[in-house]
This record gives sequence, C-alpha cells and structure tokens, in this order.
Amino acid sequence: MSETANESETDFTPRVFSGMQPSGEAHLGNYLGALRQWVEMQDDYECIFCIVDEHAITGEGDPADLPRRVFDLAVSFLAVGLDPERSTIFVQSDVREHTELAWLFNAVTPVGDLERMTQYKDKSAGLESVPAGLLNYPVLQAADILMYRATHVPVGEDQIQHLELTREIARKWNTRYGELFPEPQPVISDAGRILGLDGSAKMSKSLGNTVGILAEADEIWERVRTAVTDPQRVRLSDPGRPEVCNVYTLHTHFTDEAQLPDIAHRCRTAQRGCVECKRILADSIEEHFRPVRERAAHYRENPEEVIRILDEGAERARAMARETIGRARESMGLDWRRAGREAPAGSRA
Ligand code: SF4
Repeated sequence: MSETANESETDFTPRVFSGMQPSGEAHLGNYLGALRQWVEMQDDYECIFCIVDEHAITGEGDPADLPRRVFDLAVSFLAVGLDPERSTIFVQSDVREHTELAWLFNAVTPVGDLERMTQYKDKSAGLESVPAGLLNYPVLQAADILMYRATHVPVGEDQIQHLELTREIARKWNTRYGELFPEPQPVISDAGRILGLDGSAKMSKSLGNTVGILAEADEIWERVRTAVTDPQRVRLSDPGRPEVCNVYTLHTHFTDEAQLPDIAHRCRTAQRGCVECKRILADSIEEHFRPVRERAAHYRENPEEVIRILDEGAERARAMARETIGRARESMGLDWRRAGREAPAGSRA
C-alpha cells in the first residue's frame, strides 16, 4: 500500500477508521479494494471498522433486507481476518453519536461543497426529488471518521474527494471551536481500480460483474467463464495481450506468482485458450478463499458469536464516541448547565 501521510500529525494517536456499506456477503472488489488492506493494517495501527448501515438508508434498498445484509457483511469481515481482539468492529447505527456529530458538523459545512461532490452529482442526476441524505452523506462520513479522531483512512480513488471534505470540515471546525480533530490522511490501496468481470465498470454487486468471496466452485466458474478478455483475441490462434486483459489482472491477485510468467507467455504465443486460462483463474479464486469459506461457515453456525463481537465492538466505539461528542458539544456551547454552575440562579454578574 502507498501512503500519503502528513507526518506533522504527531499529536493524535495513529488510528485507522474505515467503513463499508452493508451489501451482504463481500465480493472480490470489496476484498481487493479494501478488506485485504484492512487486514494488513491491523498489524500497524489501532483500527476501527464499521458497517455503515445509516449510509445505506440513503439508497433504495429494501429495509426488510437490511439486517441480513449487515449480518452477512459482518461474517465476511470476520472470515477474511478482521480480528475483534485487535480491532474495533461494529455497526454504525449502534453508536447514535455518529448522527449527532454529523448534525454538529452541518454547522460548518458549506452546502456548495456538498453540491460539488462527484458522487452526489452522479447519484442525484435524474432524480425528481433529491433526498437531503444524499447531499449530507459526506457529512455523516466525516462524523464517522472524526468521531474516533482517526489519522488514517484507507480509501479507493472514488472516495478521495469525500476524505478531502472531511479534512476541510475538521479544519473549519477546529478554527471556529478549538483544536479537537485531526485532518486524516488517505491511505491508497495498491490494488488500484478493480474492474469487474465485464472488463469495463468497477466491480459491484448491483452490476453483477463480480463474485462473492464465499462462493462455491461452481458459482465461481459460472461467473469467471463470462469474464471479458483481450478483445483482439478473437480466435484461439490469435496471440493475446495479458497486459490489457482483466482476467490476467485478476490472476496477479489470486494465482500463485510463480505461475504468472507461464500464463502470460502462453497467452502471448496463443498456446492456451481463454477458456482454459479462466478455468485456472476460477480454481485460484476457489483455493484463495478456501480458509475464508471455512471461517465463514463457523460464524454462520454460531451467529450469537457474531452478535457478541459486534455488541462488544459497539460498546468500545461508544465509549470513544461519547468522549468526542462531549468535548464537541462543550466547545460549541451545548452545555447550558455550565451557566448554572458558574453563576447561581438570581446572581447578576
Ligand atoms: Fe486473457 Fe488469459 Fe485469454 Fe490471455 S489467455 S487474453 S490472459 S484470458
């Protein structure tokens, strides 16, 4: 992973915060673009990982499905190796302070900045009535991050703009009310932009261009066999270009490194067809996630263990959140009792 850290942030405990929307079982894009990196970061940072269900309600998902999507994502988190002994793992709506801090941040966030966000423009385009939640989404995101005074945030390219706004909100708030929040630095994944099996759009469940990390062999093959390859390779005898083929890119993530030169060579010399090449990739994916599937099976059989882990995570998060909110409220003058304590009723200063 590459880091664009500003080393002047020395007053704050190095701490990572990251969140993921509850879309159910994680898929390859979630894994390559985030989860794999989160697991590694646990070795170097105090980490806080959150399932951001209050962000999810700004979309159009069915509320009846939301609890299942949260639970299944939690199973994926634990199965890939997020470790509740080392990291705080919880569900956003269990810590109500997030929405309160978002409101406090609304006091310093210019509407113009929110309207400029690319994601807001994309998501609101064509909507007859734009929910305010869509506009204020990055304010809640800033609250998620700054609540824990996180110094580092792993982000994909598409989230850099939101993190910049978080930094701006921290700056504005600190200037107006006193130094409380760090300006968190992005930690950008080396995986870059993970293209879906269609070879054109970002991997996403809604586009159907990915595979669940807990998928069984048959399902993996069903999806991988549809993957788009080098468009110039029409016939078996046409030499291929692994450097432009998304299947090859996925090989670099999942197939044994020692096999890669041979895969590239057989592609370039047309010694191997794309179907066989994809078959190798499907087998590699299946093998890669075998231990993850085994751990997920354990958690599915023991749901109470997942609930306990998330409850304990929420408790830890709440303790930190209460401290931050208390300080923020006080700085913003939302502690009227102080007036009573400082000057007894009836006294005239
Ligand atoms: Fe892509 Fe493999 Fe086909 Fe080459 S052989 S074009 S790397 S799928």
